[in-house]
Amino acid sequence: MRFSGLRVLKEGLTGNKGWSPHWRDADPKPEYDVVVIGGGGHGLATAYYLAREHGITDVAVLEKGYLGGGNIGRNTTIVRANYFLPGNSEFYSHSLKLWEGLEEELNYNVMHSQRGLINLFHNDGQRDAIVRRGNAMVNQGDDAILLDRAALRRKVPYLDFDNARFPVQGGLFHPRGGTARHDAVAWGFARGASDRGVDLVQNCEVTGIDVDRGRVTGVQTTRGAIRARKVAVVVAGRSSQVATMAGMRLPIESHVLQAFVTEGLKPCIDHVVTFGMGHFYISQSDKGGLVFGGDLDFYPSYASRGNLPTAEHVMEAGMTLMPMIGKARLLRSWGGIMDMTPDGSPIIDRSGIEGLYLNCGWCYGGFKAVPGSGHCMAHLVATDRPHDAAARFRLDRFRTGRGLMDEEGTGSQHSLH
Ligand SMILES: Cc1cc2nc3c(=O)[nH]c(=O)nc-3n(C[C@H](O)[C@H](O)[C@H](O)COP(=O)(O)OP(=O)(O)OC[C@H]3O[C@@H](n4cnc5c(N)ncnc54)[C@H](O)[C@@H]3O)c2cc1C
Repeated sequence: MRFSGLRVLKEGLTGNKGWSPHWRDADPKPEYDVVVIGGGGHGLATAYYLAREHGITDVAVLEKGYLGGGNIGRNTTIVRANYFLPGNSEFYSHSLKLWEGLEEELNYNVMHSQRGLINLFHNDGQRDAIVRRGNAMVNQGDDAILLDRAALRRKVPYLDFDNARFPVQGGLFHPRGGTARHDAVAWGFARGASDRGVDLVQNCEVTGIDVDRGRVTGVQTTRGAIRARKVAVVVAGRSSQVATMAGMRLPIESHVLQAFVTEGLKPCIDHVVTFGMGHFYISQSDKGGLVFGGDLDFYPSYASRGNLPTAEHVMEAGMTLMPMIGKARLLRSWGGIMDMTPDGSPIIDRSGIEGLYLNCGWCYGGFKAVPGSGHCMAHLVATDRPHDAAARFRLDRFRTGRGLMDEEGTGSQHSLH
């Protein structure tokens, strides 16, 4: 089924009876060429690009819950390509280019909105760091504009520019940054993969990975054993647990990240605004809710709900930056499980076990990575070679210390990141 304006009009006038399900809810077969574990954004995108780019369609995506029920449906939907270090820089640039054609590619409205993203700075040192970042972005072929205080005030007049502790001096504007509708991204990739023959199997938890003489042979699941030539582990916050099934210990800790949404308000925030000093970022959804978040809860956990001290910290940061937010009523808060690596950068690599591939370590920034990650992961699984844009996302960098991408500059230790 193709979506179009005409189709929406016709269905609207005829009681919306002509729509068909977006994907087949498949039962697992005993054997596949490729099994992808995890039906989040990255797993579904991997399956889609395996079929679309490499013609590999004997693929199953095994999801322990329902498709899109993990972090892909829990994030604050920010999409950007404003990284500084080689490795991350070219990858996120690649991903943003894929975002820009994604709706046509999937024939699906993922509501990608390039409303622009602003990173604030509050002192000269921060301004210099932000200028360096902006230059790296421009050199990579992306966009960045330095805004002084007056230019920034014209864009975001509602900020407390003269805050005593964090006076706002300016910002780095990334016009192609923005947001997208998170679960529509999962649904769009699911529909595209299913249309091309991929089996999307829900309520199917992988409980074991079968390895014979150094080669993967299949998986054990709550719906029976499934043989596979290749297995891709794409389970975000559960990466360490699933890797353990193959006898591996990953350099990953799982932490909770929370997000918040207010009641619907009239349009008042046109951009994505990030306030790094206060650990706070915000945008306004198309329904009018202010969607915002902060930092991790900062202790390892598999509970996808957060704690009040972090919620309080986020509210304080919001009030510091834009006191008007105090008038809005908070509707909901929730949490997701983040797969944190020591250097804050991801892994897309072979595992050391033949036929077993890893895609993990997305930390709190993996939503914007979804198309790029799926694209590069599919390339790796299909060809056994890394895609150029993801060549630095190697697993062995944590063993050798070479090629770490410590984007935050906090040192490559879990406890400092
Ligand atoms: C509050 C919050 C805010 C965020 N904000 C942003 C943002 O603004 N921008 C951004 O870029 N990123 C953001 N992120 C990060 C981003 O959402 C994640 O990095 C990304 O979604 C992770 O990849 P995924 O979509 O594949 O994960 P998931 O959707 O979590 O997919 C993994 C899937 O694997 C399944 N699974 C796990 N174990 C098994 C098993 N044994 N068998 C079968 N299936 C299994 C899970 O059920 C899950 O569905 C945020 C995250 C959170 C929680």
